[in-house]
Amino acid sequence: MTDETVYDLLIVGAGPAGSFAAELAARGGARVALFDGRAPEEAKACGGGVTSKALKAYPQLLEAAGRTVSQVEMFSPAGERVRLKLAEPFAIYSRTAFDSHLRERARAAGAQIFDARVSADFTRGAGEPWTVRTRDKARAWRAPLLVAADGANSPVARRLAGALPNSEMEVAFGYRAPLPRNDDAPTVVAFLPGWIGYAWAFPRLDHVSFGIATTQDAFDHKSLDALLWDFMIGYYAQREDDSAPIWFSRDATTNGGEPRNSSREKLRASVEGKLRGGVDAYAARIPGLAPATWDARRVGGDDWALLGDAAGFADPVTGEGIYYALRSAEIFARSLLEGRVETYERRCRADFIRELRRAAEMRRRFYGDFYGAPFTSRMIDLARLLPGVRRTLRELVAGDQGYLTLKRTLARRAILPF
Ligand SMILES: Cc1cc2nc3c(=O)[nH]c(=O)nc-3n(C[C@H](O)[C@H](O)[C@H](O)COP(=O)(O)OP(=O)(O)OC[C@H]3O[C@@H](n4cnc5c(N)ncnc54)[C@H](O)[C@@H]3O)c2cc1C
Repeated sequence: MTDETVYDLLIVGAGPAGSFAAELAARGGARVALFDGRAPEEAKACGGGVTSKALKAYPQLLEAAGRTVSQVEMFSPAGERVRLKLAEPFAIYSRTAFDSHLRERARAAGAQIFDARVSADFTRGAGEPWTVRTRDKARAWRAPLLVAADGANSPVARRLAGALPNSEMEVAFGYRAPLPRNDDAPTVVAFLPGWIGYAWAFPRLDHVSFGIATTQDAFDHKSLDALLWDFMIGYYAQREDDSAPIWFSRDATTNGGEPRNSSREKLRASVEGKLRGGVDAYAARIPGLAPATWDARRVGGDDWALLGDAAGFADPVTGEGIYYALRSAEIFARSLLEGRVETYERRCRADFIRELRRAAEMRRRFYGDFYGAPFTSRMIDLARLLPGVRRTLRELVAGDQGYLTLKRTLARRAILPF
């Protein structure tokens, strides 16, 4: 059955990109149909970290229930730690709370929201509007403009702009785990020993989100999962014994071939025992586009647009995508309301695609070696010594230090070329 209501646009996906675009477009007078088939309690796999840059641009996000964080601990692959006190806090959200908040704002602005997963088998005849249907074809909707905001695996984007190769996808997986005792739950980013990427511990209001983000081409779930468990055990063990290492591996408990340190082993076993039964696993992909793809891939035309992850708009170094989901939604809505949808792609290029392209160029070097040690180790070691490098790291975490000027800033503050 076709819905005969007249819509100006159909938005597939009510994550941050789709809901925010729907809110702004509806508030500007557009007739919006927004689709999402995800159950409200089914959280999108995500760390939920939102930078202070994003919070400044979209202060309404602070109305969603989340935890604000003003200190981050960063660990080098060798386990060296630097504590960064942030000038402005960032926030960590449960994605259920965050997405519902944005969806309700879209609804309040006048968007029609359909609890429906639509098929990628959408159609458009010459001079006809787009028609999208549910998978069972029982319901259909029509409009002259189609927007894909259906996430990293977007089948809609695949049909509109072509598929992305697997090598341009990052993998992220992890666990939601209970808060430590007394809510003593630091926010941690730890660069991985021997792998590209990092592990995180992001405390939310009622649990901690742990995860690892790394490249898909070298992905080995068993080894990375063991590493993540070492990290999680280190996180809880440090709450009980400050001298416990962040990478609390079994090997580390053998004390370099010496007789095993039985108190350490007991601590590991007790933490692991408590954790194993109480965690909830998740996994998903994050786009990590290569420089050539940033140049070549279309993200919009006269009557269609890709937003957020569906467009590939995530930082190839960190996997941060929420800011770009919101920013692309805002740019899209502005183009639409000015009657110039065709300018959306050009505006995104001028606004943030150059930065993301630069991040894609730097990614290998960022996670590669620098004079015989991982660059991330050198960076943390220097940050422990030099306030200027610490400041640059703080600004990176805040989202205020871009990649285009990172090399120059670091060189100026620490005489460090890369
Ligand atoms: C494990 C992990 C950790 C991350 N951590 C962070 C972080 O800490 N900070 C950060 O900034 N970014 C993080 N990201 C990236 C971030 O999650 C994404 O960039 C962001 O969610 C993109 O928003 P979006 O609206 O484009 O897509 P999504 O949030 O993926 O939303 C897409 C929506 O489309 C819906 N949908 C899909 N198909 C259909 C269909 N056929 N019909 C109807 N609806 C459909 C889905 O149900 C979903 O609600 C992380 C990603 C992962 C995987």
